[in-house]
Amino acid sequence: MLKGRTAIVTGSTSGIGLGIARSLAAKGADIMLNGFGDAAEIEAIRAGLEAEFKVRALYNGADLSKADQCEALVKDAETRLGRVDILVNNAGIQHVAPIDEFPPERWDAVIAINLSSAFHTIRAALPGMKALGWGRLINVASAHGLVASVNKAAYVAAKHGLIGMTKVVGLECAETGITCNAICPGWVLTPLVQKQIDARAAAQGVSVADAGRDLLSEKQPSKRFTTPEQLGDTAVFLCSDAASNITGTQLAVDGGWTAQ
Ligand code: NAD
Repeated sequence: MLKGRTAIVTGSTSGIGLGIARSLAAKGADIMLNGFGDAAEIEAIRAGLEAEFKVRALYNGADLSKADQCEALVKDAETRLGRVDILVNNAGIQHVAPIDEFPPERWDAVIAINLSSAFHTIRAALPGMKALGWGRLINVASAHGLVASVNKAAYVAAKHGLIGMTKVVGLECAETGITCNAICPGWVLTPLVQKQIDARAAAQGVSVADAGRDLLSEKQPSKRFTTPEQLGDTAVFLCSDAASNITGTQLAVDGGWTAQ
């Protein structure tokens, strides 16, 4: 279904981004991986995608907290893969603290990586997509793009902002063959959430397993984690013809979290 297409997936060395990269590759797309991590592990992921799915997989280690590196990532994909049909803005970080104790530099980092990077990559990728007359922009927001929780001022602000920008880009591209949508996961068991579960277990003096169960029951009515594979398949759906008239909106994959 995606043979001949190419996709950049930011933050795809781990968690949700890796799940999305795998699902797009499974449908035949060539992939530009991005994110941090151990060089040997990243190379194993890259080579593994090529071997398993018979696609091209490249890696660019751009630090998306920097505007010029966001643009360079898109240019590198255009040069080495020939074009960019699909851009998935997934890289993200979290910082948890009440606002009066929130370090300003962590605010800046969360806004830069979770929100501004998507502005810079979309800005860089759109001219190429317009020339192709087809494109899929997918922003990984969060249930926290739709509702709030305490102690997550920067993250909630960034994710609400990302959904706002998704609407604007959807409108601006409405007649171009390019769609722009957000995916809003609830809890997904990735390193980003494991840190929060571990902190909760330590703070409450309970086991990690109990802390995980508490975290789910507090917010996610299904009491099941969403998986990276499910989010990968959601991205594939947004790239399909069935989704060609879905734009400027968000899909919650959150076990009912935001229905409450
Ligand atoms: P993760 O920590 O497993 O992965 C984050 C990825 O982003 C990694 O590849 C990391 O290297 C990369 N990254 C971090 N800083 C970067 C930077 N400056 N430049 C380039 N890459 C950078 O986290 P995850 O849970 O897979 O999160 C992925 C996205 O999904 C994030 O935007 C997150 O906010 C969102 N999300 C996660 C959950 C969840 O429950 N895990 C829920 C809703 C939304």
